[in-house]
Amino acid sequence: MSEIISADQQHIQFNTGSCAGPVAVFSRKLDGNMSLHHGDTGASLEHRKTFLEAYGIDYRQLVCAQQVHASGVYRAQAQDRGRGAMEYATACPATDSFITGEKNIPLAIFTADCLPVFLYAPQYPCIGLVHAGWRSTAAGIVAKTLACMREAFGVTAQQVYAGFGPAIRQCCYEVGAQFRDTFPGQVSERQGRLFFDLVAANTAQLLAAGVRREFISDCGICTGCRCRDYFSHRRQPLPGGRMLSVMMLR
Ligand SMILES: [Zn+2]
Repeated sequence: MSEIISADQQHIQFNTGSCAGPVAVFSRKLDGNMSLHHGDTGASLEHRKTFLEAYGIDYRQLVCAQQVHASGVYRAQAQDRGRGAMEYATACPATDSFITGEKNIPLAIFTADCLPVFLYAPQYPCIGLVHAGWRSTAAGIVAKTLACMREAFGVTAQQVYAGFGPAIRQCCYEVGAQFRDTFPGQVSERQGRLFFDLVAANTAQLLAAGVRREFISDCGICTGCRCRDYFSHRRQPLPGGRMLSVMMLR
């Protein structure tokens, strides 16, 4: 098995049939810890600067959230540029999802097993970037984000393309029996152990909201299987680094 990851695996490929579109990228472990809140944060700003420079993004413009595993959606506008970019305290409070219809606003979420969901409606155009762990998924965060995009920009779910970033997958995500009640149909049993399919749960939510199946793409990376290349909170909880997912209209 190859240990080499090609550069384009850091991009979300939307099924739009076009190369044009928003910046939609995620970092890897070798890019360093990107969080100012988890793990060793001493070099996080330097890591962000280096990673984002490749996409022509000024790391000081990043719009960050104080992620709380709930379902708060925040509409980012020009005046929000740089919120949480230099210190965690100024990040948007109680936010696990961003939307925007404005160009050159780099939205950021941080993950290590939770699922980054990238949403893009070319018609407006507008974007959404969601931090979907199991709690936020149970709270319907993807459906709520689609509803916010419809309300703010007038785009329907049928017009939205979705892309999944790296996350812990069903192969590695062992859970307790209570998940069967929260996510009926998305928990499977193997040798007496239960595993949750976070991607399937979010796919079901997208489809139920009206997103077309052929508009959904998935990078397919499991942070658990690939914990050497990606931060995995469950596989390697310490020192607890986070990957950065960024989305920006240009
Ligand atoms: Zn796995």
